[in-house]
Amino acid sequence: MDINSDTKLYCLIGHPISKSLSPYIHNFSFNKNNINAKYLAFEVDKYKLKDCISGIKALDIKGFNVTIPHKVDIINYLDDISEEAKLIGAVNTVKNVNGKLIGYNTDGLGFIKSLYDKKIDLEGKNVLILGSGGASRAISMMLAKEGVRKIHILNRTIDKAKKLINDIKKNFPKIEYSYSNLAEFNINNQQDIDIIINCTSVGMYPDENEIPLDIKFINQNTIVYDIIYKPLKTKFLKKAEEKGCLIINGLKMLIYQALISEEIWLNKKLDLENIVMALEKQDFLLKNRNY
Ligand code: NAP
Repeated sequence: MDINSDTKLYCLIGHPISKSLSPYIHNFSFNKNNINAKYLAFEVDKYKLKDCISGIKALDIKGFNVTIPHKVDIINYLDDISEEAKLIGAVNTVKNVNGKLIGYNTDGLGFIKSLYDKKIDLEGKNVLILGSGGASRAISMMLAKEGVRKIHILNRTIDKAKKLINDIKKNFPKIEYSYSNLAEFNINNQQDIDIIINCTSVGMYPDENEIPLDIKFINQNTIVYDIIYKPLKTKFLKKAEEKGCLIINGLKMLIYQALISEEIWLNKKLDLENIVMALEKQDFLLKNRNY
């Protein structure tokens, strides 16, 4: 669609953003849905955040995504935040409603949608989560909300795992929980884990030979999810595949969180499954497989 004076601008702010796939995903979706809008990525470091928000308001940019390192700090500049964003304590999507900025978090929702796509029922499940950063917070809160029975968190920095577990407990007191140091995890008696999710950045391009945890203790009934999407098949997923496990990479989560942001900005339901199917055939995502 041509750019004209009615074209609305949406964007990503973060640092670094040079490898982001968000502009491809959103511009593809805007085109496919005949929406007169464009999406750009802006390099914004922590010193520029305040000015950037003033600029967004002055130009009446209708919505934007927020990535590292602003997902928590952005909250100081917002007029309100959604229930999910409050639970998670971080925002990845902002909507500009007549000059008022409202924050949302679609990371956890995108993750849950990618599991339901595979017809994976979460109720009563025993889940092991590696990492306690922003993505882990979003995913673990949404898993708790969806009714999993038990959450174990493993993290390199134990205090962060403890804090996350305490925050989950405050909001979902019935959940069974445990946490430990990633390096000291006792792999004995762990056969009953239904789903393992890597939410650390270990194994991500260019450190593709790294693995966050030795998973020799799992059996083929364990579902293994790595939210990394560069590469699409991490060493962690390769090891799980060798065991015969169902493996899931981070690509669908990435696409869904982006499209759910779009639904919020446009205030309308999109045919998510159809857009995801079309997106998965696009060159820019296929090329991404070479990472
Ligand atoms: P983050 O907030 O910086 O958290 C990073 C996590 O990785 C922390 O738990 C950190 O542990 C752990 N970690 C980093 N290096 C480690 C190492 N060498 N050994 C052990 N643990 C290590 O980042 P994030 O936003 O949560 O993102 C994490 C990963 O998820 C990234 O790879 C990102 O690309 C991916 N992601 C994917 C999607 C998607 O849509 N598919 C969405 C968001 C993020 P400490 O607490 O000890 O530092």
